[in-house]
Amino acid sequence: MKKRIVLHFPPKLIDKPITYHLVKDYNLVFNILQARIMPNEEGLMVIELSGGNKDYKNGLKFIREQGINVQTLKKDVRRNEARCTHCGVCVAICPTGALYTDPKTMKVIFDSSKCIACELCVPACPPRAMEVKF
Ligand code: SF4
Ligand code: SF4
Repeated sequence: MKKRIVLHFPPKLIDKPITYHLVKDYNLVFNILQARIMPNEEGLMVIELSGGNKDYKNGLKFIREQGINVQTLKKDVRRNEARCTHCGVCVAICPTGALYTDPKTMKVIFDSSKCIACELCVPACPPRAMEVKF
């Protein structure tokens, strides 16, 4: 299985090698999509975690036992359709092709299944149509 999750680290845990244990002890593969870690503040990490069902469940149990809050990431980045002017600025910025121009209509399409939540489009969008929800 493969899932994207958000980890909220309390300040006392931000320097713990949690991801190392996920790989070594639970055979999980992880890909860090975002990380915001400031000294003495809560850390936030968005990761894509993949592995066998049992390993995944045990890995999540381990994370929670460390005192880390785990959220499943569902719709992390959304487009506010009413705000989008289809200007196309985001198309050149999006690294995965989740934002692209339909050559027939010249409208900008947002394919959320390709979005990796890098947030590059959020500050780039002139009318602030791209929004992040956790
Ligand atoms: S930059 Fe914003 S307004 Fe322009 S096409 Fe992309 S989402 Fe729409
Ligand atoms: S968050 Fe990143 S991957 Fe998702 S639509 Fe914006 S630029 Fe593309």
